[in-house]
Amino acid sequence: MVSPAQTKEIAYEPVIGLEVHAQLQTESKIFCGCRVSYGEEPNSLTCPVCLGLPGALPILNKQAVEYAMRMILAVGGQVNGHSVFARKNYFYPDLPKGYQISQFDKPIGTGGAIQYRVDKGEPQCCRLIRIHLEEDAGKSIHPESGESRTRVDLNRCGTALIEIVSEPDLLSPQEAYAYLVKLKQILQYLEVCTGDMEKGHLRCDANVSVRPVGQKELGTRTELKNMNSFKGVERALTFEIERQTALLRAGGEIEQTSLMWDEKKQVAEPMRSKEESHDYRYFPEPDLLDLTITSEWIESVRAELPELPEEKAERFLSDYRIREYDAGVLTDSRELADFFEQVVALFDDPRTAANWIQTEYLKTLNELKLSVAEFPVRAVQVAGLLKLVSSGKISGKMAKTVFAEMVSRAMSDQQRDFSPEGVVRDLGLEQVSDESALALIVDKIISENESQVQAYRNGKEKLFGFFVGQVMKETKGQANPEVINRLLKERLGN
Ligand code: ADP
Ligand code: MG
Ligand code: ZN
Repeated sequence: MVSPAQTKEIAYEPVIGLEVHAQLQTESKIFCGCRVSYGEEPNSLTCPVCLGLPGALPILNKQAVEYAMRMILAVGGQVNGHSVFARKNYFYPDLPKGYQISQFDKPIGTGGAIQYRVDKGEPQCCRLIRIHLEEDAGKSIHPESGESRTRVDLNRCGTALIEIVSEPDLLSPQEAYAYLVKLKQILQYLEVCTGDMEKGHLRCDANVSVRPVGQKELGTRTELKNMNSFKGVERALTFEIERQTALLRAGGEIEQTSLMWDEKKQVAEPMRSKEESHDYRYFPEPDLLDLTITSEWIESVRAELPELPEEKAERFLSDYRIREYDAGVLTDSRELADFFEQVVALFDDPRTAANWIQTEYLKTLNELKLSVAEFPVRAVQVAGLLKLVSSGKISGKMAKTVFAEMVSRAMSDQQRDFSPEGVVRDLGLEQVSDESALALIVDKIISENESQVQAYRNGKEKLFGFFVGQVMKETKGQANPEVINRLLKERLGN
């Protein structure tokens, strides 16, 4: 026996394994022809198959199989030539058949790994155990105040999912978070899942245990459910690791259970025991053939895989010679990367384009909470604006004003001209670069400020800024700074 005083000294480390459910963005469900769509009239997207009516038979959706194959291949896993669907039996109101069709001992995918980085650290790797195909259940709609009944919406019933199960390779809540961000990014690049957690398109259960540092054997784990954001997963894990560690230090034992994360209270609480007792009595699904995938099919899916984030970032570095950090930001999503490439195709200065997109453009997108696709100002307009700056028509500072006006016009009235040229013209913002016009102004400023000119010539060089300021004031900020600098230096004799 170890006394409490001794156990207190032991350092514990967490071990985490994640189970992620990703809804595949197929047009129809996995075993019937019902359309998949979020937010429709409850129970309007159902048929005898997904309602589980007697005698209805499932037919496998080929697109769902291909999407699963894409993900397996993208993470370097093995697509199994032979896999089997199985019935997972349990009773729940949102599961009309009384079982879920899933895969058990013969999943479609085995192995693979996800590479991630915590902040800007070295790349780390989490191995995957398996990726399997299954159908989703419906949704219970719990009563709001004043209602007495729980209702059920079966629109989601039979929607295609993949479950991605990791090895217990993640060693902190921050690693779990980084893993999830990467996983979602890959799914989105592959266009197999929207990754929208709010709509439940991506869901994560987190298994966690702690063990004394140095011990190889894993501790008893608990499973956290009900987190609705990646940050929520991180918080739930932090909470649970502290709870387990404190319990072990106090001489207690961990019970292997499922816990529900309560985001409002920031605590994980045990589920009611009935919901927890799993005895799924898995057996092979008798209404479906085993799934056979030929190597030709696998190779054709592999050949069609899109460029993944890392490859894209590498290409951006070599093709456009932008900074590594910028390449990372710009390849964050496929649509942002495409947008950058569209701008660069029209405006041949990738570094300036990269800077501008990361600052003004992304800032505005964030403020308006819009995606690249939803944002009405397109690559043509952004490239046009950058060209106005590079040709000296407007200053970099004015470009911000022009962009703000373009955005405001585009957002409020799409009929109005929101092109950069149109806005510059309407606001009268064209930069004065005309030498002879500027020379007149410079001469005027010099003759009006004799004492300053004297002081400057006697060595008070700081006054240069004063002259620039006067010219700017005279031109309402529209003078080309390079030209003014040159003219002033010529005339002030320096
Ligand atoms: P089940 O089928 O009961 O969910 P699995 O063995 O398939 O159990 O594991 C599910 C998840 O739990 C996996 O992601 C795995 O990495 C993780 N896991 C298993 N044991 C532990 C443990 N002791 N600590 C942390 N995670 C674990
Ligand atoms: Mg599991
Ligand atoms: Zn159906």
